Amino acid sequence: MATVVQKYGGSSVADVDKLGRVADKVVAARREGHSVVVVVSAMGKTTDQLLALAKQVDPNPPRRELDMLLTTGERVSMALLAMAIQKRGLEAISFTGSQSGIITNDRHFDARIIEVRPHRIEDELARGRIVIVAGYQGMSYRREITTLGRGGSDTTAIALAAALDAERAEIYSDVDGVYSADPRVVPEAKHLPELTYEAMQEMADVGAKVLNATAVELAKKAKIAIHARSTFEPGRETLVREDAARDARSVVGQKGVVLVTTRGERALDRATEILAEASVPTRDVEARPDGDGMSSTMTVATSLTPDWEVVRGRLLDELSGAIHIEPGLAAASIVGVDPTATATAVAMARAAGARIRSVVASGTRVSVVLDEPSVDAVVRALHAELVA
Ligand code: ASP
Ligand code: MG
Repeated sequence: MATVVQKYGGSSVADVDKLGRVADKVVAARREGHSVVVVVSAMGKTTDQLLALAKQVDPNPPRRELDMLLTTGERVSMALLAMAIQKRGLEAISFTGSQSGIITNDRHFDARIIEVRPHRIEDELARGRIVIVAGYQGMSYRREITTLGRGGSDTTAIALAAALDAERAEIYSDVDGVYSADPRVVPEAKHLPELTYEAMQEMADVGAKVLNATAVELAKKAKIAIHARSTFEPGRETLVREDAARDARSVVGQKGVVLVTTRGERALDRATEILAEASVPTRDVEARPDGDGMSSTMTVATSLTPDWEVVRGRLLDELSGAIHIEPGLAAASIVGVDPTATATAVAMARAAGARIRSVVASGTRVSVVLDEPSVDAVVRALHAELVA
């Protein structure tokens, strides 16, 4: 019997009524004859609310305790969904990340999966049961509870699909797949029926939230096809797979970006070390000669780091005078273009009134870092000029 892994995002399980409709879908998949493993996110905005609660106690909450708190969100939805399925007459059992055998490294808040030992899941599937797994969490080899980074339920789903040799992973959310831009910002964005792992990964890396970047990376390694679908409006989907027919262009905006500039070799070394230790995503790091030494610039995405102010404080304390951190920025990136698109990107950003702070062009992407308030307008302008 083929195993299918389905993942339902927070908006799909936001209330008891929606949870019931998800239970109906899961039951239908089981009745089609599949072995079904379901990964759930926390209900609605639960994770944000728990984070806000923690910040009321400490504006920079300790990461270990944050993991203890945040993992409760997925535990609520897994138990309720298992109940809803049992109520419909099928056998279902819920497991936490650690019960599912998701073993991670020992970093809190942004742990990486190092191994999956899904024996309990396999036993339950063999008994014909539907297995519900709490997404976004695991257990470190030191038996500490960890989380996998925001949006990490996708990662759980793909890791389990790989470990269980599943036929496919179905990722359900409130959108019917991936678009050439966030449809909430660009209403005329085009639906993309197919994408390669590389294109999806690049989009996720520069801030597209529709699929988690680590999940796409795992899917690529294990060659798991990802079907991104809408939970309640079935029809279209985006299929992310190895031999996708084509890659379309897309435009991605990302807020909460800061630009870090360093002077001197030591500052470059230490800044990159401190940021890596704190798992703060950096990209487009560029170092260049400066007199006898070196200076550097890097783009840092802070919105997924709960204690960014602590990290920032550490950077300023240790490197004062050799580092500059400019906040209040955003990045607008065009994915699927070569560097010849740079001139157009810069001209469009200027025409949209942006204050440009940096421009980077790589083989398949051009990114413009600019003042945050103008990013949506720039994304719309770039989409109209280069994609539509
Ligand atoms: N609930 C977690 C979050 O909001 C994980 C997930 O939704 O994938 O980030
Ligand atoms: Mg969530």
